[in-house]
Amino acid sequence: MNQSELYTAEAKQTAIMQDKANVWHHLSQHSLHEKQDPLMIVKGEGSRVWDIHGKSYLDASSGGVWCVNVGYGRTSIAEAISKQLVQLNFFAGTAGTLPAAEFAEKLLEKMPGMGRVYYASSGSEANEKAFKIVRQIAHKKYGGKKHKILYRERDYHGSTIATLSATGQEERRGQYGPFAPGFVEFPHCCEYRSQFGEVENYGYLAAQELEKAILKEGPDTVGAVILEPITAGGGVITPPEGYWPEIQAICKKYNVLLHIDEVVCGLGRTGKWFGYQHYGIQPDIVTLAKGVASSYAAISCTVTTEAVFNEFLDNPSEREAYFRDISTFGGCTAGPAAALENLRILEDENLVENSREMGDYLLSILKEMQSTTPLIGDIRGQGLLVGIELVSDKASKEPVDESIAAKVAGICMQKGLIIGRTNRSFAKYNNTLCLCPVLTLTKQDVEFIAYTLIDAIKEAANG
Ligand code: PMP
Repeated sequence: MNQSELYTAEAKQTAIMQDKANVWHHLSQHSLHEKQDPLMIVKGEGSRVWDIHGKSYLDASSGGVWCVNVGYGRTSIAEAISKQLVQLNFFAGTAGTLPAAEFAEKLLEKMPGMGRVYYASSGSEANEKAFKIVRQIAHKKYGGKKHKILYRERDYHGSTIATLSATGQEERRGQYGPFAPGFVEFPHCCEYRSQFGEVENYGYLAAQELEKAILKEGPDTVGAVILEPITAGGGVITPPEGYWPEIQAICKKYNVLLHIDEVVCGLGRTGKWFGYQHYGIQPDIVTLAKGVASSYAAISCTVTTEAVFNEFLDNPSEREAYFRDISTFGGCTAGPAAALENLRILEDENLVENSREMGDYLLSILKEMQSTTPLIGDIRGQGLLVGIELVSDKASKEPVDESIAAKVAGICMQKGLIIGRTNRSFAKYNNTLCLCPVLTLTKQDVEFIAYTLIDAIKEAANG
C-alpha cells in the first residue's frame, strides 16, 4: 500500500506544521527539526510501518521503544478493546472487573511460583508500586530499617524521579537530581567490558558485586534488589554463565527480595515467556509493561509471590494491613481486555518459539559476518532482543564516536529499516545498535534486517 495516496500534499504539510508547532517529542532535540522534519508514522501492518510520505519501513524497534510484540494492525485486539469499552469502559481497581480477573489468572499460569497481579498503566509505575511494596514491608516488619533498594549500573527502570533514582544510566539521570534516598548502585555484569579482565568464573565474580554492596550497606537495611534479566536499553547486556543462580542465592542468604524488571523482556521478547525463565530462578516480584498488550492499550503489572502478598494480610487490626496504593488508570478495563487477546495470539501463533528461532537465525547471520565487517566489537542477544556494540578498534575495544552509531541508524532509515540505539553521550557503553523487531518476524525479514544493517555499518565506516 502507498500511504501517500491517502494524504494530499496540503494535508501532509498541515500535519507536519501542527506537530512542529505544538508537540514536545520524547528524547528529542527539537533544534534538529529546523533542518529536517520529524518522522511522522501514520500506519502499521505486521512488521512494517509507513511514514506520512508513504515510505515503508521494516520496524526493527517494535514501535521505537520495543513494545509491539504481536505486530501492527491486529484487528482482533482492537475488537476486543471495543467490545469491552461498550460493556464497561472503566471502574477503579478497588473493584474487580471481568477482563482483569481473567487475564491475571492466565498470566499467572505462565509464571509458576508467582501469586498476584497488581495493575497500573506504565513500566515506571509498575516499578514504583514494587518499591512501595518493599518499603511498606520494611515499615511493617523491620521498623522501617530494611528499606534500601539496590540496582545495577546500566539497568533502566523508568522515567519518574524514584525509578530514575534506581536507574544506572548517567545519560538518563544526569540532570534530574537530587534523587530519592535509599537507592544504591552496584556494578554491571557485561562480560565484553569485564571489570576483572578475562576470567573463567566471570558470572560468579560479577554476582559477588551484589553481595559486596549488601554487606557494605548492612543486610538489615537492604529490602530488595531490582534487575533487568537482560539489560535492554543500557546496551543489551546478556548475563554471563552462572550469574543469575548466584544472584538468587545471595538474595536468599540476606533475606533480600529479588525484583526482576521484565518491562522489555516479558511476554516472549527473549524466546521464553519471561526473561528470568532462561536462568532457573524464582523472583519475588516481577514487573511487566510493554508487551503485556503489545501497546494496543496502556497496561502494566506488578506481579508478586503469594508470600509477598500475604505480608499485607497479617494482623488485620493493624493500620497498614493493606497496600495503601492506587492508580486511576490501573483499573482500566481496555488494558486487560487487550492483554487477553494479545496472550491468545502469542500462544496460538507460537510467537514465543518464533522469537527464539528468528532470534537465533538473526544472531547466526550477524556473527558470521562479524569478522568481515568493520566496527562490530560484540554481538549479544537472546531471542528477538539483539545488540551490536560498535568499536573503533576491535583489539582495544575503543568505543566509536557516538555520531557513528547515529549515522548507521540514519543510513538504515534511508534503506527502509528502523533500528534502535543506546542513548547518546556516555561513550563507553553507548554505541550499541539495538534490534528488537516484532515477534511475528519471518526469515525474509531477518535477512533484510541483517544484510541492510551490515551494509549500513560498512557505509558508515567508509565515511
Ligand atoms: N523498565 C525497563 C526495563 C524499561 O525499558 C522501561 C521503558 N523503556 C521502563 C522500565 C519504564 O517503562 P515506561 O516507559 O512504560 O514507564
